[in-house]
Amino acid sequence: MFRLLNFCLLMLISAYGYACKFSNVEFATDFSGGRLAQCQQVSQDTFLLTFNPENTPINDSPWYSFKVTAKQPQTVNIVMQVNDGKHRYQPKISRDGKHWQKQPYTVNNRKMRLSLAASSQAAWISGQEIISNVDYYQWGKNLAAHQIVEQGVIGHSVQERPIYGLSARGEGKEWLVILGRQHPPELTGALAMFPFTETLLGVSPLALSFRERFNILVVPNLNPDGVYLGNWRHNVNGVDLNRDWKTFQQPESSAVNDYLTALVADKQKIAMAVDFHSTRKDIFYSMPHDYGLENPQLVNDWLTALQQAIAGAYPDFQVIQKPGNNPDKGVFKQYIADTFKVHAITYEMGDETDRGFIDKLAVEAANTLMTTMLATQAQD
Ligand SMILES: [Zn+2]
Repeated sequence: MFRLLNFCLLMLISAYGYACKFSNVEFATDFSGGRLAQCQQVSQDTFLLTFNPENTPINDSPWYSFKVTAKQPQTVNIVMQVNDGKHRYQPKISRDGKHWQKQPYTVNNRKMRLSLAASSQAAWISGQEIISNVDYYQWGKNLAAHQIVEQGVIGHSVQERPIYGLSARGEGKEWLVILGRQHPPELTGALAMFPFTETLLGVSPLALSFRERFNILVVPNLNPDGVYLGNWRHNVNGVDLNRDWKTFQQPESSAVNDYLTALVADKQKIAMAVDFHSTRKDIFYSMPHDYGLENPQLVNDWLTALQQAIAGAYPDFQVIQKPGNNPDKGVFKQYIADTFKVHAITYEMGDETDRGFIDKLAVEAANTLMTTMLATQAQD
């Protein structure tokens, strides 16, 4: 009986991803962000799932996301294996695709194991929460409905998905630029980008005076193809977008470059940029203060203010700043520094950083950035 099950490997390709169907259990990726390469039944209730990157070589950030259903309620044991790679993301489970909890698991010999109660009602297992292209669009639409921003299309991805830009424009000429989701699985960066941006676009006296002087451009989701496909890191051409800010071979990075170039041609001025990512810990990658940029102490002053602001609620938290200069890598922050002679940072949240903390830190980061930028000499 079980010997027969060993050979039970079935893949159904459909327009919406694919499913592995076994006699009672099904694994599917028919949703935005779904990713699963192969499934194999190894015993009645145990399944081996394997995962592949979109192409190689690639930074080892194995994203996985799939739905589990069972015709009759049963326990499903899942063994997850990354081809040629090591797990990075701790599993999360959702019963509705929106609300997520940490899922208990073990990792041994690069195999991740977990068990769940499966039924005809789907359970999602995913490396992080899912934030889809539609979620970004709706978020921008809600902000636009309050007439705080205009949501427009600034370009298209390789697969012709729109890249949205949200702009809050006043009388001033200086711009703060915010970028997100160059790397699809870096969800904690996105979880910081939302409250950070909402704070800038809020109605506090600080936000109002900030927007009297500064305009804001937000490109929350630069890699919509990668987000849809559940890519580990790249766009559909297999390119790391955060290595393309020197040669602009990709339409996604080119769209932002074209937009900023047009602003400058229109006598506008880029003042600062923040690019949201995730990595293993919370860290802010900056340009060196002696790199010759305008307002050399801007980021130092900001992060010092942030440290003070967060200390009351989180006395143990240390803001870590790591200045760096890599002129040949094609990284966004370097492009901003070299092209516009101003500071930019890569705002990295840890993959497993507490979600409530990400939110609080982002609000304080936005408030302290506004105060710090308002203290600089106004440009006209
Ligand atoms: Zn990243």
